[in-house]
Amino acid sequence: MSELEPIDGVGTPDGFRRLWTPHRLAYIKEAGEGGCPFCRIPSLPDAEGLVVRRGEVSYAVLNLYPYAPGHLMVCPYRHIADYTETTAEEAEEIGLLTKEAMHTLRRVSAVQGFNIGMNQGAVAGAGVAAHLHQHVVPRWGGDSNFLPIVARTKALPMLLEDVRSRLVEHWPA
Ligand SMILES: [Zn+2]
Repeated sequence: MSELEPIDGVGTPDGFRRLWTPHRLAYIKEAGEGGCPFCRIPSLPDAEGLVVRRGEVSYAVLNLYPYAPGHLMVCPYRHIADYTETTAEEAEEIGLLTKEAMHTLRRVSAVQGFNIGMNQGAVAGAGVAAHLHQHVVPRWGGDSNFLPIVARTKALPMLLEDVRSRLVEHWPA
């Protein structure tokens, strides 16, 4: 498939190469039709929603459009947009799942660094600005060494489902 060929259910590609997984069309359509993907994902089976870990008030999920293999997001179940809206319990568990994600990613691959953070508001780059999510992006020396807007072709050597399975297997009990 050509890089710039329109993809049914997704729209016109923007030039980024992405891993295409047709069996997740329902997931993508939901996001494209104005539903909130981060509210929808927890209702899906883990493998379908790419959920890696479910906590009490938040969960960890693989990014469908990863900047790097293993790119995770940690989200509260509640549909809140701003970090200041989190309860103490949510803020604590988002922090805990973020730490566990780092431990797990280090366990399954020779991760050398991380980018961790939240884009607050569309102007700051949040793709789904209405629902808070913390990115956990593993980094390796020699990986795409700047934002993917610069490195337009990203190396994604592992299928998302394989990445999810490995992370689930190695996540701390
Ligand atoms: Zn939501």
